[in-house]
Amino acid sequence: MEHLIQAAYFLTVFLFVLGLKRMSSPATARSGIKWAGVAMGLAIVVTMLTPGLHNIGLMLLAILIGAGVAWYTGGKVAMTDMPQMVAIYNGMGGGAAAAIAAVELLRGEMDQTGMILLSVIGGLIGAVAFRGSMIAFGKLQGLISGRPITFPAQHVLNLVVLVVSLLLGATLLGGDPITLMIVLFFVAALAYGILMTLPIGGADMPVVISLYNALTGMAVAFEGFALGNAAMIVAGTVVGAAGTLLTQLMAKAMNRPISNVLFGGFGKPGAAGAEEIKGSLKAIETEDAAVMMRYASKVIIVPGYGMAVAQAQHKIRELMDLLEGLGVEVKFAIHPVAGRMPGHMNVLLAEAGVPYDRLFDLEDINAEFGSANVGLVIGANDVVNPAARTDTSSPIYGMPILNVDKAENVLVIKRGQGTGFAGIENQLFYKDNARMLYGDAQGVVSALIQQLKQLG
Ligand code: NDP
Repeated sequence: MEHLIQAAYFLTVFLFVLGLKRMSSPATARSGIKWAGVAMGLAIVVTMLTPGLHNIGLMLLAILIGAGVAWYTGGKVAMTDMPQMVAIYNGMGGGAAAAIAAVELLRGEMDQTGMILLSVIGGLIGAVAFRGSMIAFGKLQGLISGRPITFPAQHVLNLVVLVVSLLLGATLLGGDPITLMIVLFFVAALAYGILMTLPIGGADMPVVISLYNALTGMAVAFEGFALGNAAMIVAGTVVGAAGTLLTQLMAKAMNRPISNVLFGGFGKPGAAGAEEIKGSLKAIETEDAAVMMRYASKVIIVPGYGMAVAQAQHKIRELMDLLEGLGVEVKFAIHPVAGRMPGHMNVLLAEAGVPYDRLFDLEDINAEFGSANVGLVIGANDVVNPAARTDTSSPIYGMPILNVDKAENVLVIKRGQGTGFAGIENQLFYKDNARMLYGDAQGVVSALIQQLKQLG
């Protein structure tokens, strides 16, 4: 039986890796998710078949409740709320790893210091990821301000809480730990997760979410070592490695060292010295905007979170087809943190059937804005905010942006005066070459399509 169980775990690991591999391309990502789901199901079944397991009824009940909630909420969640869901599920993984550590430590049956150490490390990381992810969820859901929450001596307090957690963890290594110490250890680790996330501003959330993803994976892997469970070790390591790579990519996209994100407070909106906005907002009729695009030779479309809110991707695809039919070259400029999750724009545009070869990453397209007649911004804001280049007090200072302001004409589709996720004004909209097309992105793009059809 033991050999059979290990063989099944091996198969699980293989399926996890296969799933991950397939998730690396939008064309195969759906099947990748399914394979990873099969792997997870198999891992649960095999674990339940392990001889000597107790409380099977309780475990089945927990699985039933968890699966029921996930099935219901997963089916209901709007695409735009996906990051919150990722944050909360991520946090649950970290919390589960921390709970395993807590149970193992409380049972006091681990006799080797090495095993206890692995359990303590996994517990610490898992608790931080759990609490931190909950704060990230609160920020993304708008329950907590998305701006950096800072207070005097914050870095010192954070450091003290981290050191206290480590010291409390160290006291558990001797074996036969005191229950109070275990409780205090987890309280300190959970507090550190909160304190670490509060000062991180909205625009840096992509980095934080990926980091907690990585931490959750690592916590699961450590607990896998402590329990001697191969599936947990491999699945945790795979998630940890993928999360670490994603964290690096996101930090690179924001042009921030990860330490800068974690130790936050590098710029607060509205801080003294924030650049004054010059110029005025100038609206344009869809008729005139359509003429501008009809006679352009190159149009670069910059989609952002507003496109996702409006679900305008299908209309945008129609607009692209129409313009291309009229001989206009159309390209899409994709910022790595546009929208609310990594790859958000790519997924939506792929869903609408926009060919991949029309999508260009920031570094590949930025030099081309100078030769574009029209830069069409659809529900993007932070990722095109020139304050990132010049305003040292801005929370997005230093983040590479799409140089849409360099286009001959800039058309901006948005509903009103709403700011982006970072909560700051955008000088781009006030520039001489910028014109505003106010309204819901789907409605405005539909109107542009109608006008273009009339122009023929
Ligand atoms: P932003 O959030 O900066 O701006 C979105 C804009 O869309 C708003 O200005 C809003 O203005 C407009 N908008 C909203 N709804 C509609 C609608 N129905 N029709 C038309 N316009 C609409 O988006 P960006 O994509 O530019 O930037 C993403 C931000 O999110 C960055 O700060 C990034 O760091 C952050 N983030 C990204 C994550 C990721 O992984 N990609 C994860 C978490 C955060 P108005 O209200 O006036 O319409």
